[in-house]
Formats: sequence, structure tokens, C-alpha cells
Amino acid sequence: MTKKLNKDTIATRTGLETDSQHGAVVPPLYLSSNFAFKQFEKEQKYDYTRCGNPTRDILAETLAELEEGFGGTITSSGLSAINLVANLLGANDHVILPHDCYGGTFRLFSMLHEKKALRAHFVNQNVLSDFEKSIKKIKPKLIWIETPSNPLLQSVDIKAIVKLAKISKALVAADNTFLSPALQNPLALGADIVMHSTTKYINGHSDVVGGAVIAKTRKLHDQIQEWANATGVAGAPFDSYLTLRGLRTLNLRMNTHERNAMGLAEVLSNNKKVGAVYYPGLESHPSHLIAKKQQKGFGGMLSFELKGGLPAVRKFFKNVELFSLAESLGGFESLVCHPYTMTHAPLTAKEKKTAGISEGLIRISAGLEDLDDLIDGLRTGLK
Ligand SMILES: *Cc1c(COP(=O)(O)O)cnc(C)c1O
Repeated sequence: MTKKLNKDTIATRTGLETDSQHGAVVPPLYLSSNFAFKQFEKEQKYDYTRCGNPTRDILAETLAELEEGFGGTITSSGLSAINLVANLLGANDHVILPHDCYGGTFRLFSMLHEKKALRAHFVNQNVLSDFEKSIKKIKPKLIWIETPSNPLLQSVDIKAIVKLAKISKALVAADNTFLSPALQNPLALGADIVMHSTTKYINGHSDVVGGAVIAKTRKLHDQIQEWANATGVAGAPFDSYLTLRGLRTLNLRMNTHERNAMGLAEVLSNNKKVGAVYYPGLESHPSHLIAKKQQKGFGGMLSFELKGGLPAVRKFFKNVELFSLAESLGGFESLVCHPYTMTHAPLTAKEKKTAGISEGLIRISAGLEDLDDLIDGLRTGLK
């Protein structure tokens, strides 16, 4: 075929029929830590698994293709992927991050700032005029974005931020974990780096912790690969194999996650015990229009506020059915969590207030179960 393949086809068929030895349809799993030299003093593609591994490379190359980047690097976790990007900065380099970013991102950059490895600034990126002022003042080398945000699902305008980044010639790195490459492609909107916690939607089966960094240019990709090798953050071949298996059904899963999230958001919006509902698919959500413009879908995450605060939250978790009370997201199974005491625990009370995380807030990761069953389970919790 000469026509460029659709991304769904690429994700599903990647690496098939590449086994030259036995003609295996599914590419084999190479667990070997080392590869024998065919000839002394002659370089070959693989010698040692920290530096390169055929199973991991299929995953890296496929994610790079899906994100429209030059190359990908697979790491042992989402956070090691974030730390890998942080290696691009020195002690005098400034980075601007969203004040409501992932709790682990907040902790990592705060700690790096504390020990003077870089200069981190957490700002509200939602008001572009204020954000422009921050860029002019701070002159960052890196702008970190996470869109939509966790857990309120606020989107920032990636194209607008890329334009503002030119003021200080900053790199723009986007944490695209919440949407996956199936629903948003930040590089195509002008970003330089995309980061994923593949633990979430990309693997999608809640049995691997992993990460990925995809760079737009060869130069950036080479730098990132060099740091990955130097710091030894490479993902394990077996994890890559499982993640690749998950990736083959990504598009199918994202469609169902989204349909279920929308159904749950509608039910919650009509319940008297519920205050605000945060799902970008609802026209009432402040990011509805921007999400519609730059995303291919609204995703499978939502959150809502219980009017009765913490006591009501306790009751809800005791009674809710079919939703497991757990951190993480993006798996086949539906989850509920309490950001205030769980995912966002590293933030101080004041920081949580600024980020809009109240004690009555509950986050849902809509899984792949039947929607009517999920609605019943949710209603039992709200009784
Ligand atoms: C989970 C997550 C991370 C961290 O990834 P790990 O795989 O847990 O290390 C980073 N960003 C977002 C948005 C996440 O949801």
C-alpha cells in the first residue's frame, strides 16, 4: 500500500510479521539483557538492553509515529520520563509549570528546585495574559503543560502557549497522559516534547508502570536518548511487550471510556446531592470549546463535588458499587478517588485551595463496563 495508514491501523498492526526466523505474526518478546557480537570490532544495532532492545524499540517507534514526533524513549515510569526531560535543564534554567499539575510532577520539580538543580515556577496557565507576563518576567527555558488538568479537566490552548513560548525561545513539553495519542497530539499543535505515563490509557490494563518521552526533532530526541542511557531509566522489555499489546486496542478503548464518562457526567449533573460536575464534554465546562478545538475527544476522566463535603465523601465511598477506590486511571476498570487525600496529598492545604481541590471533590476514571451497570453503581453510592 502506498497510501499513508490511518493511526488506528498503525497502533493495531505495528510490528506484525517482522519475525524473520519463524514468521511469528506477533513480534517476539526479547528479554535478553545482552546481544552477542556477530563479528569482533563491528558495530551492530543491539548490544545491551539498557541502551537498546528490539521489543522496547517497537513501542518507542510506534508512539513516536502516533504522536507525529521524530523519536520516542520508553522509560520505567511516567515520573522517570518527566525526570528525563528535567535533565535538559541546568541550575540557572527556569521552568514554568501549571500550579494544578500532577502531584508527582509538583513534588519532583519542587525537590529539584529545593536542591538548586533548576528553577521551578508554578503558575496559573489558564489566564493567557497573566501567563504572558510570567514568561516575560521569568524567561523560562522550558514550559511544562498538562492538558487537560487533573482533576478538574481544564484545558490550555496549546497553540497559544507555543506562540507565547517564542518570547523566551522556550521548549514546550506536554504531559499528554489524560488523552493519549488517540485523542490529542501536542506536537502537531507546535509543542516540542510529549510525555506519557503509559501506565494509564496507553497500556490500559492496570498491570504495568511505564513512561514515554517523544521528541519532535532529531536533535532533541538524541539529547533525550543520551540522558536515558546515562541515567539508566529505560523501561523493561516485558513491560514494553504488555504496553504494546494494550496499545493495539487504544482507539477502541478510548471510544468506550469517553462514552461512559459522558453518560456518568450527565447522570451526576442531574443529581441534587452533587454540586459542580467537571467533564469537558458538558457544554457547561469552562474548557468545552477549547477541548473541542484541539482534541479529538473529551476522554474518560471526570470529577464532581459532593455538597456534603468530607462526611458525604465517606458515605459515598462506603456505598458505591462497581467503582474501585484506587489511585491511577486509564485502565479497563472504573475507579473513584479522593484527590484531596490521595493523588494530590503532596500539595499543602493552601496549594490545594489554589488548584481548586476541595474536600468534597471525587474523581472518576470511567472504565469499560456496561454504562447502565455503572450508573446503577454510582446511584447506590449517592443514595
Ligand atoms: C500517573 C501520571 C504521571 C506519573 O506517571 P507514573 O507512571 O505513575 O510514574 C504523570 N502525569 C500524569 C498526568 C499522570 O496521570
